[in-house]
Amino acid sequence: MKTIYQNEKLSKYNWFNLGGPAKIFFKLQSVDELKKFLKNIEDKKYNFHILGAGSNTLFRDGGFDGVVIKLGNNFSYTKLLSENEIEVGAATLDKKVSDFASEKSIAGLEFLSCIPGSIGGAICMNSGCYGEEISKIFCSLKTINFEGKIETYTKDQIKFFYRGNNLKKDLIILSVILKGVKSDKQKIQQKQKKLINKKKETQPTRVKTCGSTFKNPKNKKAWKLIKLSECSDMKIGGASISQKHNNFFLNNGSAKSSDIENLIYKVKERVYKKTGTNLDLEIKIIGKN
Ligand SMILES: Cc1cc2nc3c(=O)[nH]c(=O)nc-3n(C[C@H](O)[C@H](O)[C@H](O)COP(=O)(O)OP(=O)(O)OC[C@H]3O[C@@H](n4cnc5c(N)ncnc54)[C@H](O)[C@@H]3O)c2cc1C
Repeated sequence: MKTIYQNEKLSKYNWFNLGGPAKIFFKLQSVDELKKFLKNIEDKKYNFHILGAGSNTLFRDGGFDGVVIKLGNNFSYTKLLSENEIEVGAATLDKKVSDFASEKSIAGLEFLSCIPGSIGGAICMNSGCYGEEISKIFCSLKTINFEGKIETYTKDQIKFFYRGNNLKKDLIILSVILKGVKSDKQKIQQKQKKLINKKKETQPTRVKTCGSTFKNPKNKKAWKLIKLSECSDMKIGGASISQKHNNFFLNNGSAKSSDIENLIYKVKERVYKKTGTNLDLEIKIIGKN
């Protein structure tokens, strides 16, 4: 199976459908493969980027001048460890993990059914919604670094905060152990449905977006500040702002990455001028112009 691609278009691998090529794109299927690859490029000083489902990543138009690593299918799996604990591969989509937990009557993972990323991405972003976040159900994870060293980190070794954690950035998360509470399957399924419907009511669907562009400042909502600052109708090229949720920026089909990025900075500046609040980015902007 082909695993290494040159000049692979990154627009195929993110929710904005944007971005130039990666010099090397490595679809990782096993730890041994990674070790071999790292040995072969030992003498080259490549930059690395680890990509999950790309639901929080804007790649720039110039692409990425280095190696983009994406975990392949072998890292997408779910395994029951005990009556309320599961191990999941880092490439597994959050929805699949939520459904697996629900199937096994484990509560506490329902919120994952409305986050479109992978578990690796969810750990990096400490993703969550409606008062829940992955740190609350997290037990431990396994990583590999760019020297091929495998390590395990437990809950007390990682500090999670709003949309992030303090793990070193040169670690590829391989698998994660999550823990919920044994409960009634029907109740769990109802909660999943309720949360999914709530999301549909307040956020746009079937659009090219990476969700919330900015983090919510303490005790404030980024979308409200954007609305208050009269940015809702702002557009640059093919980039605009969702009328349903003003913190969701959209590629209307013809946007370049630079349109989205310029719109982000324009909104940030206007919000600061109008409200005095400096919005911080939630999405990751990667690559060169
Ligand atoms: C429609 C929509 C709704 C959303 N709703 C929510 C929401 O309710 N709550 C929320 O928190 N977010 C939400 N998001 C944002 C996004 O889905 C989350 O941040 C998600 O967890 C990102 O996962 P990903 O796999 O797509 O990560 P990516 O975008 O691929 O990457 C995000 C970060 O994680 C790192 N990363 C990914 N996988 C690994 C790995 N295996 N090892 C090491 N690092 C890794 C990347 O390097 C990058 O820094 C939404 C996005 C969309 C498009």
